[in-house]
Amino acid sequence: MSAPRVQLTDDEWRQKLTPEEFAVLRQAGTEPPFTGEYTDTKTEGVYECRACGAELFRSSEKFESHCGWPSFFDPANSDAVILRPDDSLGMRRTEVLCANCHSHLGHVFEGEGYPTPTDQRYCINSICLKLVPS
Ligand SMILES: [Zn+2]
Repeated sequence: MSAPRVQLTDDEWRQKLTPEEFAVLRQAGTEPPFTGEYTDTKTEGVYECRACGAELFRSSEKFESHCGWPSFFDPANSDAVILRPDDSLGMRRTEVLCANCHSHLGHVFEGEGYPTPTDQRYCINSICLKLVPS
């Protein structure tokens, strides 16, 4: 994994982010399901990284997964995110990171049978995103 374009120290991130944002974006936490502000949002627009402002997802790739977190079947641009194996919690999962600042966004799951073009579910914490309505 190459170095992120946006590189800040933990102290600098703590100044830029709220404690809740820091815990998820920089410490790979997970917000409780069905609590995030974008879980059921259908507003059209672009979802940016809340840490660095990079464009990550679009509302046109958002779908109703009923899993409790905003779900997308594809990133806005495949270079916008980085995927890496995550074996924490005794599970094999794939972590999704912002390619621009390497902040944690969530996980991607596939083969779950959702009727989407990719059969992938990018399960992203609302608190990692900022919706810019179009
Ligand atoms: Zn970012």
